Amino acid sequence: MNEMQYQVDLMNAMNEKLKNDQKMMNMIIDTSTSCFIYYNYERDDLRILGEWDSYFDFNVKRISDLQNIIDFVDENYRDEMAKCLYPERSGDNHTSVTVRLSSSKKWVECDCNVIYDAKHEPLDKVIRFKDVTVVNDKNEELKYMAYYDMMTGLYNRNYFIRLLADMTERAKKENTRVAVMFIDIDDFRTINDGMGLVIGDELMMIFGQFLNDFSSDDCIVSHFNGDRYCMAIYNPGGLNSVDYIYKMIRNRTRQPFNTADGREIYIKVTAGVAMYPDASENVLELISCSEIVMLRAKNKGKDVIQYFDSELLAEFLQNINIENKLKDAVYDMNFEMYYQPQFDASNGNLRGVEALIRWHDPDDGMISPAQFIPLAEKNGTIVPIGQWVIEDSIRTYMQWRQDYNRSFILSINISAIQYKRDDFVKKLIGIVEKYNMDPKELELEITETALIDNYNDMTEKLKLLRDYGIRISMDDFGTGYSSLSYLKSLPIDTLKIDKSFVDTVLSDENTNIIMESIMGMVKRLGLETVAEGVETEEQLEYLKSINCDNIQGYLLGRPQSEEDIKKLLKD
Ligand code: C2E
Ligand code: CA
Ligand code: CA
Repeated sequence: MNEMQYQVDLMNAMNEKLKNDQKMMNMIIDTSTSCFIYYNYERDDLRILGEWDSYFDFNVKRISDLQNIIDFVDENYRDEMAKCLYPERSGDNHTSVTVRLSSSKKWVECDCNVIYDAKHEPLDKVIRFKDVTVVNDKNEELKYMAYYDMMTGLYNRNYFIRLLADMTERAKKENTRVAVMFIDIDDFRTINDGMGLVIGDELMMIFGQFLNDFSSDDCIVSHFNGDRYCMAIYNPGGLNSVDYIYKMIRNRTRQPFNTADGREIYIKVTAGVAMYPDASENVLELISCSEIVMLRAKNKGKDVIQYFDSELLAEFLQNINIENKLKDAVYDMNFEMYYQPQFDASNGNLRGVEALIRWHDPDDGMISPAQFIPLAEKNGTIVPIGQWVIEDSIRTYMQWRQDYNRSFILSINISAIQYKRDDFVKKLIGIVEKYNMDPKELELEITETALIDNYNDMTEKLKLLRDYGIRISMDDFGTGYSSLSYLKSLPIDTLKIDKSFVDTVLSDENTNIIMESIMGMVKRLGLETVAEGVETEEQLEYLKSINCDNIQGYLLGRPQSEEDIKKLLKD
């Protein structure tokens, strides 16, 4: 056989194989009741396969058309659907979700797989939709059989949502309102910690039973979890008004609650109220509005009731707007790192810089991290953002180090959600090694709340990081628990004293005393201190006088761009 003939035979054989593969694939798709989307990123090529028409009454041609699918599912599932369709936004390979289609009421399981190349750029994406209506309707029934919360005998959260949906539907027809009141016992943690979980549970039950006295056709009472209760009041007014009910609850809390073992416990409660349809027409949103105002009221000072008003609504809408834009910003990584210098209080030398993220939005200008980081934590985008922050600031730091031959500390803020990821420690060390950074020059900031939520797992990870040589800093000290006794047991190197402390220290005698005792204790524990938010000479002098090690604040340097830090390093 000559060479030419051999090539032709080989090509024919390959063609035949391709044809068979294609045939096999078609057969598999034909016998399946699912439908599929296949997308290739490089060619920007999108195809639909399988039983498409029995799911959707429109076609998708471009990748941007995926939005039509999101709009096609029931509104309560849209966020989850959006997350599922773009696993690459959080760097995942596979996502899965079960959603309800709004028109056909079908339950559909959606699976999305993304294949990446060696550089973790997405190559192909396959999305599969599978009808699971029969299975799911059964499960739904089972779920609804568990109407009640075992502990209090009140309706549970799931069933409350369903009853509230019925109530709002009725209100729509009768053109009236429904008030959702979220109730939370103040300082419940202290009761649980001080008297034990058994008493805590008993109190939860007694209080729940008291709330149950309000239940009627026009008032649904439910127990969500822990010390959180939620009520829905139909057509509120008169003896069925929110204020009246709150007043009754409040009066009751002026008397003690008696436990079986004869204790008398006093509690206070904070309530947040959102009205249908004023705050929202969506049941889940209504509940979360009432929860948000309840939390706000707690921050302002507990034992009160707070209504969701137009100002809060505007803020809420603004947050939704930012949250939507945030997804795009994450997709394009439209962020920039700023760095705020920290100086040694004794000699004025540069101690280090804190990396602080900046987001310049084309419409809204600068959006503060204080505003968007909590939203990113809520929707999970903090994971890719945080990953980018780590890599970008370490790369910049190593460049400075090389150009100016100076070493100092790079401090990076890490959110609790990031620490919680199983691969956090491994990934972080991977980046440190990739850029050949000396781990002693890296410091991670953590907040007390992050620790309290997940103490054991967190301290274990912090220990691993410290064993590797990375420094750990406790951020915002003085705003949370601030218990000096537990500082001893924490694997930390640095304590950052919060701005609120620094602000009041000169005017308030008590803060002054606390600050000085913190300093004494911290020194004995061998921790380094950094005071944050130092704005005046007087504060600086005072902090020096009590031997605070380092100073960070507008007085000595604002957060600034990479270029400005270069100038600082040059001088
Ligand atoms: P933080 O960690 O407590 O950061 C200190 C904040 O105080 C920064 O605000 C800084 O610009 C500001 N600040 C510093 N000195 C002064 C001063 O003298 N006066 C006043 N009024 N403010 C001062 P920024 O940059 O807006 O960051 C706000 C918060 O956002 C940070 O608080 C941190 O919790 C979070 N954040 C910022 N960047 C990141 C990040 O990359 N990752 C994570 N997870 N969180 C970040
Ligand atoms: Ca910080
Ligand atoms: Ca701080």
